[in-house]
Amino acid sequence: MIVIMRSGATPEEINHICEKVREMGLTPQVSRGVERTVIGVIGEEEKLRVKPLAAFPGVENVVEIQRPYKLASRQFRGEPTEFDMGNGVKVGGKKVVVMAGPCSVESREQLLKAAEAVKKSGATFLRGGAFKPRTSPYAFQGLGEEGLKLLREAGDKFGLLVVTEVMDTRNVELVASYADMLQIGARNMQNFDLLKECGLAKKPVLLKRGLSSTIQELLLSAEYLLSKGNFKVMLCERGIRTFETATRNTVDINAIPVLKRETHLPVLLDPSHGTGVRDYVLPIARAAVAAGADGIMMEVHPNPEEAWSDGPQSLLPQQFEAVMREIKVIAQAVGREI
Ligand code: PEP
Ligand code: MN
Repeated sequence: MIVIMRSGATPEEINHICEKVREMGLTPQVSRGVERTVIGVIGEEEKLRVKPLAAFPGVENVVEIQRPYKLASRQFRGEPTEFDMGNGVKVGGKKVVVMAGPCSVESREQLLKAAEAVKKSGATFLRGGAFKPRTSPYAFQGLGEEGLKLLREAGDKFGLLVVTEVMDTRNVELVASYADMLQIGARNMQNFDLLKECGLAKKPVLLKRGLSSTIQELLLSAEYLLSKGNFKVMLCERGIRTFETATRNTVDINAIPVLKRETHLPVLLDPSHGTGVRDYVLPIARAAVAAGADGIMMEVHPNPEEAWSDGPQSLLPQQFEAVMREIKVIAQAVGREI
């Protein structure tokens, strides 16, 4: 249910409704738009039938949200969500954000080289895993906190924001103390406890689509974050499993316009994990920007041959530079900037 307030509704009227909603054992989520304020009512909507909120002062209309994801839906918030990373960098605005860096943080030297290169070519975020979700327990699992320290150092040295994965509820606070954005990986998209914990964290979240998840499931996972009060959420299409074996995953390019229609949250595309092949990263990055993505995430390694994970899909610094040059032109053509 959403309560649409009249334009010019007073803070007292808004607070009054929030109090009533809480008294009924439900949770209010206030969204202040340019035109008007909307209050999302979360919980068992049955409880509202006995106290129709439409009669309260300042209320224009009460609407039932048809979608199973309420707060993430366009019905709840009509305008796209644009949020500030705290340093003036905006996510979800005119500028398409680029996140780049190695799959895994391997060493100080590797990370500093990668960070320098991606900054030089115009990335705004440094990516890199310190906690790695590996298919095999014998594969490199990440440097842990040491990796987080290196990410923070490299990010600060080159003026890049840091985005890195958190896999475990026990590490949310730790990762949030180093990173600017928490990444929830594809394999954890439906780790509901992790979603709840990240929803309570004071850092923006990048939520990646599960390998075999539908768009609706992705949005319901985002709803976990939003319902805990964290609205600084970005969604990421990173390829899904299909019968096709020519590429590591199949990029669902459709997900971009579908998500842009269904939700107000910014949408990112990851052509590195989406294709698994370095040579396909450029064409798919181009397609993503053309289709309306709000950001691109790419793996870049100073020496992919030696990478401890995902070498075949990692771009060399000069290849990343070429991708940046090309997607800038596409961004301009569709009324965006990079
Ligand atoms: C990653 O971005 O480091 C990663 C592991 O991606 P995904 O969760 O999409 O597989
Ligand atoms: Mn990777």
